[in-house]
Amino acid sequence: MTGRPTPEVEVDSGQKLSNFGGIACRAAVQARCLKTTLDCQTCGACCCNPDENRAEGFVDYIEVRAGERLYRKRDSLRRFTVLNGRGERHMKLLPRGRGEERCAALQGALGKRVTCLIYDDRLAGCRKVEAGSDRCLQYRRERSIDSL
Ligand code: SF4
Ligand code: SF4
Repeated sequence: MTGRPTPEVEVDSGQKLSNFGGIACRAAVQARCLKTTLDCQTCGACCCNPDENRAEGFVDYIEVRAGERLYRKRDSLRRFTVLNGRGERHMKLLPRGRGEERCAALQGALGKRVTCLIYDDRLAGCRKVEAGSDRCLQYRRERSIDSL
């Protein structure tokens, strides 16, 4: 199968791209990608259940592990997480239109202005995607944030 060519991602030298887990970065993430500036606060794509997971029927989103700050925040646990059948705690997914499922802690309009309601307590699993990375660009395409 022939897919669209992978775009080249230019990164300003010395620019720290990581962050995240979503809307994380407070300042706009300066990843120059085909002249596009990636700003997590106007995106949120990686705070949605990826198409691949949904296709495979995964219902568990990011796991909340003992030792993480969020683990000690009862109100947030009650509001934003669920236990699965094995007693493991995960971020709750909320269905949206067009088959989309978002993390319960994601607030705002995807691709416009978003924020993480538990930003300071976000999970290790939330910080894995680097803005400008292949995965980031894939998630953005899946959510139609852009067509890079
Ligand atoms: S998909 Fe990329 S740009 Fe969008 S919020 Fe995640 S890391 Fe930031
Ligand atoms: S907790 Fe949810 S909204 Fe916040 S960074 Fe993680 S996936 Fe995104």
